[in-house]
Amino acid sequence: MDGAMKLHEYQAKQIFSNYGIPIPNGTVARTPAEAAEAVASYGGRGVVKAQVHAGGRGLAGGVKVVGSPQDGSEFAGGLLGSHLVTHQTDANGVPVDQVLVEELADIATEMYVAITMDRNHRGPVLIASAAGGMSIEEVAATNPDAIVTEVVEPGLGLMPFQCRRVAARLGMSGATARQGADVISALYRIFADNDCSLVEVNPLIVTGEGGVVALDAKMDVEDDALFRHSDLRELRDRSQEDQLEARAADDDIAYVSLDGSVGCLVNGAGLAMATLDVANAAGAAPANFLDVGGGATEEKVATAVGIILSDPKVDRVLVNIFGGILRCDVAARGIVMAYEEQQATQPLVVRMLGTNLVEGKEILAQSTLNVTFTDTLTEAAAALSTSAGGRG
Ligand code: GDP
Ligand code: MN
Repeated sequence: MDGAMKLHEYQAKQIFSNYGIPIPNGTVARTPAEAAEAVASYGGRGVVKAQVHAGGRGLAGGVKVVGSPQDGSEFAGGLLGSHLVTHQTDANGVPVDQVLVEELADIATEMYVAITMDRNHRGPVLIASAAGGMSIEEVAATNPDAIVTEVVEPGLGLMPFQCRRVAARLGMSGATARQGADVISALYRIFADNDCSLVEVNPLIVTGEGGVVALDAKMDVEDDALFRHSDLRELRDRSQEDQLEARAADDDIAYVSLDGSVGCLVNGAGLAMATLDVANAAGAAPANFLDVGGGATEEKVATAVGIILSDPKVDRVLVNIFGGILRCDVAARGIVMAYEEQQATQPLVVRMLGTNLVEGKEILAQSTLNVTFTDTLTEAAAALSTSAGGRG
């Protein structure tokens, strides 16, 4: 989770089109028959593209140029209902519920253009390269001089001269360069108007006739700004997201899935970060970052623990609660509630301090849970690294 909502290619392209950026004619298909029909409508040829929240679809077999409606139907049939694994997904991949069928483009040259937030400049930056189709990481590694950047002054926006300069450095001239500058300017307005953390077009192409067309489209919208974009909120596709992260976000719990096997329940983001460091240092790799928040109720703690226990990677749980506003007895009741609800058996190592500590410990000690109490975080981490980690 990077704090942003991703859009599908077809959704982003609709927005591109609203801003005057040329896109190929396209149709979203949810069945092989719909895909065949769309290919037929484009003269019996087209390109079929899996709609998933991940890049690298081309290399992963999620994009194909097809030469007949039958070909389109077969390729769509193989994708629809399957999971696509790309270098940007985990091993489970992401479900393909729809494909985008597009009219074939006449590609003369492929370019890369993206706008993203740059931490060093504390503002947006445009990144472009004439080596389209390739990932920007690849270009950065093999041919860094080919990368064009323009820093945006947030109060001014991307200036017309900057758009023209980028178009020229991408090798465009004449009417193509003028159209290219317009497209780049529109991409920046899309980025700014929609509170994006990323707008990426790879490839942006020049056609045989010199037209500029966005052949791919990526838009990530800042989660924190979604409250003022009800139209964008409706485009959310939860099936594409990490299910546990999505559940946590619904309940206002700060949760990030990690690779280890120790589920972590902590209150306070700083304490959660410190907990991850100490657990890692003790060789007990965390399965997640989780900050249940200061004012959590029993139910919210139970939801948080439920999310932790739903993660199949989790074979032990570390609780590190500093009971200030969140009282230890409230946390303890929430923990027991979640364990009982899921009939979970993963052992817990608990370090609690603060308000109603005695009551909190009492509730856990009298439960059927396998609890080890420790006084310090260091002891807790040591207890974790020696605990068997048997999962029930
Ligand atoms: P990605 O791999 O997820 O970035 O998917 P893209 O949408 O960028 O498609 C991958 C590649 O398929 C592009 O770089 C193009 O080379 C190719 N492609 C996409 N659309 C067309 C098209 O209309 N015609 C042709 N010939 N190739 C296309
Ligand atoms: Mn692409």
